Formats: sequence, C-alpha cells, structure tokens
Amino acid sequence: SEERTLNFLEQIVEEDIANGVNGGRVLTRFPPEPNGYLHIGHAKSICLNFGLAQKYNGKTNLRFDDTNPVTEDTEYVDSIKADIQWLGFNWAQELYASDYFEQIYNFAVQLIKKGLAYVDDSTAEEIAISKGTPTEPGKGTPYRNRSVAENLDLFERMRKGEFKDGEKVLRAKGDLASPNMHMRDPIMYRIKHAHHHRTGDNWCIYPMYDFAHGQSDSIENITHSVCTLEFIPHRPLYNWFIEQLGIFPSHQYEFARLNLTYTVMSKRKLLQLVNEKHVTGWDDPRMPTISGLRRRGYTPASIRAFCERIGVQKRDNMIDVSLLEFCIREELNKTANRVMAVLDPVKLVITNYPADQVEEMTAENNPEDPNSGTRTLPFSNTLYIEREDFMEEPPKKFFRLGPGLVVRLKNAYIIKGEGFEKDADGNITTIYATYFPESKSGGDTTGLNVKGTIHWVSAAHAATVEVRLYDRLFKVEDPGSEEGDFKSYINPDSLQVISNAYVEPSLLKAKPGERFQFLRKGYFCVDTDSTAEKVVFNRTVTLKDTWAK
Ligand code: ATP
Ligand code: MG
Ligand code: MG
Repeated sequence: SEERTLNFLEQIVEEDIANGVNGGRVLTRFPPEPNGYLHIGHAKSICLNFGLAQKYNGKTNLRFDDTNPVTEDTEYVDSIKADIQWLGFNWAQELYASDYFEQIYNFAVQLIKKGLAYVDDSTAEEIAISKGTPTEPGKGTPYRNRSVAENLDLFERMRKGEFKDGEKVLRAKGDLASPNMHMRDPIMYRIKHAHHHRTGDNWCIYPMYDFAHGQSDSIENITHSVCTLEFIPHRPLYNWFIEQLGIFPSHQYEFARLNLTYTVMSKRKLLQLVNEKHVTGWDDPRMPTISGLRRRGYTPASIRAFCERIGVQKRDNMIDVSLLEFCIREELNKTANRVMAVLDPVKLVITNYPADQVEEMTAENNPEDPNSGTRTLPFSNTLYIEREDFMEEPPKKFFRLGPGLVVRLKNAYIIKGEGFEKDADGNITTIYATYFPESKSGGDTTGLNVKGTIHWVSAAHAATVEVRLYDRLFKVEDPGSEEGDFKSYINPDSLQVISNAYVEPSLLKAKPGERFQFLRKGYFCVDTDSTAEKVVFNRTVTLKDTWAK
C-alpha cells in the first residue's frame, strides 16, 4: 500500500515489538455487542484492529461482547459475521464473552475473598449518592463492611436466583475518594432474570462491561485492546481489575470514533429508524450500516479506502460524508461500465431516418479501462431522451437540444431539433429532429462543430426498469446533537422512486450487485428487490458532488 506516516497506534505497536513486549506478539480483537447491525463507524474499528494485526504479523479475534441479554440476538451475530467477511477480513477465532461467564464469576469470587468486592443491597439511587460527587469523596453504604463469608454466601445466592432484579449488586471495593468516579466502588454484577441468546436461562446475574471486557481481553491474551475515547476514564479500572486478579496484562488504547455528517451512528437510533419504519430495514440503502452501504452499491474496497483516508485520531471530529462518496466514485470510475439510461423520458422522432431501419451502434464500455471492450446498441427513428435535454426556448449557452439546435447522440449521429408536440396541459409529448447521415460516431465526415452530447435509448428496444434515487437521510449536519428528537430532522425527500425509466436492452441481464455508470446520471447498482419482471436500480452516488452546502 501507499506510503504514509504511522498512526499513533502503529507507533505504539512498533515500540512494543522493538521492546520485546509480549515477545513481539500482536493479538487484537473486534468486540461488537450483538444488539444491532454493523455501521460505517464499526468499519473504522474493524479496519483498525484487523489492519494492525495484518501489518505486524498478528491476529485478530472476533469477540461478541454479549453480556447484556435483553437487547442481543443471534440475527445480529449472523449479520455481523457476514459483514466483517464481506469487508474482506478473517478473524483468528470466533469467541463470545458469554463463554467466559463461569470464569468471570470465579474472578469475582476471587476478589470477594481478597476483600475487594461486596454485595450491596442499596437501590440505584442510594448507590449513586454513596459515590459522592466529583468534588467530595463518597461515604459508601452500610453494606460496604460485610464480611467475606457473608459476601460469598450472598453472591452465590444471587447466582442461584434467590433475589429479584435490582435487589442486590456486586460492587468492587475501590477508592471512594478517587478523583475518577469509575473507581468509586463500581458495580461488577447485576441481577437480570432474562433469557440470553446463547446461555439461555443458565444465568440470572450478568457482569457489567467493566468487569467483562478487560477480563475477556485477558483470558484471550489480547495484547492491544483498542476502543473509543469515551473509555479513557474506564482505563484505570480496567488495569486495576487485571492487577488485583493477577491475570494476563492486556492494555487498553483509545482512538476517536467516526462521526459522519448528515448521519446518525448510534445503534439505538438506527434501531428506532428501523422499528418506526422511517427506513425499510437495517439494509435500507440510506442507512450508514454496512448492509445498507452494500445494497447501495458500495464495495468493500471503497469502504476500506475511506477508513484508510480518514486515518486514526486521538480527538473527536466530524468527517464529511462526501469523502465516503468520493471513495466509491473514484473506484467505480475505474471499474463500472458506461451504459445509457433515460430517467425522465420524452419521445424523440428522427423524421429523415427510415422508419423500418434498425442499426447496431458500437459503444465503448469504459474509456477508463482499455480491457473493457465494446458492445452494440440498437438505434432507430424513435428514441427516448431526457426531458431536461430539450428546451423549447433555449438560452444562449444551452448546448443540448432545442428548435434549430444541433447535438450529438452518444455513439450515434448528430441531430438537429426541428419541432415538438404538446398535450392539453402544455407538456411536450414528442420532439422532432433530423439527423446528418454522414455524422456517425467514429466516421463523422460532416465537419460540424457540435458542443453537446446527450444519451438516448431506442424506444422499441428499451427495457423498462425501476430506479431509486437517494438523498441524505437527514437535513442537518449533525442530527444527533440538535435540539429535540433526532427524527424530526429526517429528510422527507431522501428517496425518489422512478418506476418507469428506460435503459438499453443489455441491462435486462444485470444481476443484483452489478454496478454501472448511467452516462451523465451517476453510478447505479442492481438492487436485491429486482425480480424477473422488473429490474430495480439504486443510485449509489451521483457523478459529481452535487450537494448544496
Ligand atoms: P453504538 O453506540 O453504535 O451502540 P457501540 O460502541 O456500543 O456503538 P459495539 O458493538 O460495542 O457498539 O462496538 C464494537 C466496536 O466498534 C467497539 O470497539 C467500538 O468502540 C467500535 N465502534 C463503535 N462505533 C464506532 C464508531 N462510530 N467509530 C469507531 N469505532 C466504533
Ligand atoms: Mg459497546
Ligand atoms: Mg452500544
């Protein structure tokens, strides 16, 4: 890959390798919670974790952080695995934090025996008060001085299901005067009588993130545990548990999460969009999910290129979504075949072209790719062109079609506008033109100087397809930080469906996932909604950045 300076995590790993830390071994992990589909922010974390391992001869585990039974589901597990593989990464091991429940329970018992954890009967509110304030140390609760024997007994009974949700928690005996609130007797376990998607009803107590994540890292001998910035204040606790338990010292490092303009990225919010049917599902092409981007026409390489371009930072920032669009446009410009599609058709009749004649025109598939070859296109006297390519009274610099104006039909002839017909409402129904027989593309001997070229399809040969044009899902740059409900900033015009667009006949054979450039209209891919009767195209991205700032 191309030369660039090392990011701060690569610097850390290189120093560790140079110093022989862990014998130079690098083992990272990607730790999704299976409570939603992966999004472009996760892709940044995936590229980072798998990328570090690839670069330094290491490995990456996929570990499901499934310690919260209520919101988790195997549907999410399956989609997460499919998305990571689609992005082009292979994990060393597929692991589940829930597989460590017994071991994590034993870690808790170990801390109780050391006098470093206790069962607390206080309410959530009493616990919050017991921690004090940032300026005043906490006073603790009356349960803080329970004996080891009593704590062992109560914790075992918590596990056996003798208590109701919320009746008791297990807390670490930390430092109630610590400037870091997370060290003031954090909760390690809570009671939750809930069915878990993997462990079923085996457990009714579940470890908190802070008592599961570092422990899981350590069990797996993870060397570099990379997470997002909001976990910086958790790091002392992460280290404290590992030290007190005397287990493998994994280390936590933090980087800035990805924020994208005009996008929400929290799974909770994405789930609301799905449940409340603002979108058709997690894979709606307007969603920032990996499955949505895939369906929209994004390629794995374009997403990886985006993640490489944005880099890895130590400060939160906001990335312009047009950079993501730039990355797919750049790739498709090199790889997508050019085809002709008319999205807003109006009929054009060439009055001096023989009515019963059909000519096969030769068209270059992709001028950017010398190996892409050519194809043929049927041409006849009746075509469809874009309505916007004709003006009844064209202004001076209109280099398309109008009465008396000349324009080239791409891959075919030069024509001259002659006249038009309108319906009762004043809409143009047919345009009339004449063509110059000596002007055929590739063999033009007319010497005519024509400024504009427009696309077309032959009316008798065109296929009718559905085309879906997308705009941003939100009207404001940072919908998550605006006043009130983020859903009130949804763009009502984010989807435009054209049910009768005309495309050249070659496109009838297009398969889901295939990508094309519709000349002058953007990059499109075949949608999974396509049927034998009707092919559906999604616009992945326009040809240029048309978003008005
Ligand atoms: P969400 O807020 O969407 O629920 P999460 O962090 O709770 O996100 P996880 O499934 O726990 O979601 O995330 C798995 C990994 O992906 C974590 O290591 C997390 O830090 C990382 N991650 C999540 N969102 C982003 C983001 N926007 N940018 C970079 N990394 C992210
Ligand atoms: Mg998380
Ligand atoms: Mg979350």
